[in-house]
Amino acid sequence: MDIRDNIERIRADFPILKRTMSGYPVDYLDNCATTLKPQQMIDAVVNYYTYLGANAHRGDYEMSAQVDYHYEEARKRTAQFIHAKSEKEIVFTSGTTESLNILAMAITNQVLQEGDVVISTQSEHASSVLPWLEAGEGKGVEVRYIPLSPEGRVTVENFLSVLDDKVKVVAIAQVSNVLGYEAPVKEIAKICREKGILTVIDGAQSVAHLPVDVQDMDVDFFVFSAHKMCGPTGIGVLYGRFELLEELTPVFFGGESNARFNRCGNLVLKKTPFKYESGTQPIEGALGMKAAMDYIDGIGKKNIHEYELALKEHFLKRAAQELPRVKIYNPTAKSGIITFNVYDDGKLIFPQDVASFLNSRGIAVRSGEHCAKLLGEFIDVPGTVRASAYFYNTFEDIDRLVEALKDCTFTNC
Ligand code: PLP
Repeated sequence: MDIRDNIERIRADFPILKRTMSGYPVDYLDNCATTLKPQQMIDAVVNYYTYLGANAHRGDYEMSAQVDYHYEEARKRTAQFIHAKSEKEIVFTSGTTESLNILAMAITNQVLQEGDVVISTQSEHASSVLPWLEAGEGKGVEVRYIPLSPEGRVTVENFLSVLDDKVKVVAIAQVSNVLGYEAPVKEIAKICREKGILTVIDGAQSVAHLPVDVQDMDVDFFVFSAHKMCGPTGIGVLYGRFELLEELTPVFFGGESNARFNRCGNLVLKKTPFKYESGTQPIEGALGMKAAMDYIDGIGKKNIHEYELALKEHFLKRAAQELPRVKIYNPTAKSGIITFNVYDDGKLIFPQDVASFLNSRGIAVRSGEHCAKLLGEFIDVPGTVRASAYFYNTFEDIDRLVEALKDCTFTNC
């Protein structure tokens, strides 16, 4: 689908775009934090509460059988969305953060030994590094960081510079949520496969924007959140190669993940992936996530990616001519993420002040450290402003940002 030709029709699917913010039509450029939701996804969630209603995998009546069917269809659709070999490789979780915590706890406790190393990066989101630091602390597992290139990228060369025989896990994001650079995941995964190193890829900022094929990348684990891809909050995915999910033991226990147990604690778990889904799951979330995947694929990830790049290019062109006080940190990142700061008379305007000023013009951006606190050492400023575009943004949205930034001075902010 040509997004430019269909932009009004696409925008009509997002009811929230009818609202205003600070008295202006909403100019939503905070898509890295969460995306807006199309009516088709909202309908899928409402449909569950309106017509389906039952719990999953528990009842013996018509309504519950229908829920089971739709819930498992969502699992199949998720496998297709990231090209997993089988739906048995898809575990539903509450999101990226939970998926990464489960993996860090399970792998650290069940696979790693004292002295082993987990590789992370300097640009990692807290959710991708803290679980490893916390899980590894009592066990003597070290977290080591791939240094970034001068531009801020993760490179194969820099990865090799920290690689040795102690490395057992590489846990990195496919796309950085601050600088928007794509890491060379396929190349790194190939090296890891040859050396028997596990790969855990945080796809929170990639899965909604780029075609993702977990088999082609040949990664062991890939995780993401539905809310960052037009889906509901409270649901996400932990993809794992089947043999590995079989081998690992869950870290949460409870109803529906066990086949049987006795009073002495002898436990027989259900088959993969059900052994990982203890307790009532976000059923409406799974149904909503499926609708979001249908919606995104209907537009086409390749089209989405190209359109985001065109929006960013438009900003960069105008910024080069009209925004001499704006410093952009990631002009070459091939994503819709623009990370910048505004200066006035050579002095930095505090990023939060810039974000508040933009809010007064109806523009939503994120400011601060963006949960990637280690990156501060690299960028060497107390924070940045991040504008992140998605396929429902318009060139006029970008123009509004440029015009507002022209007026962003110490006097106005
Ligand atoms: N990883 C990255 C790269 C992110 O950008 C985010 C959220 O911004 C997360 C992990 C955490 O995602 P969630 O809050 O949906 O668990």
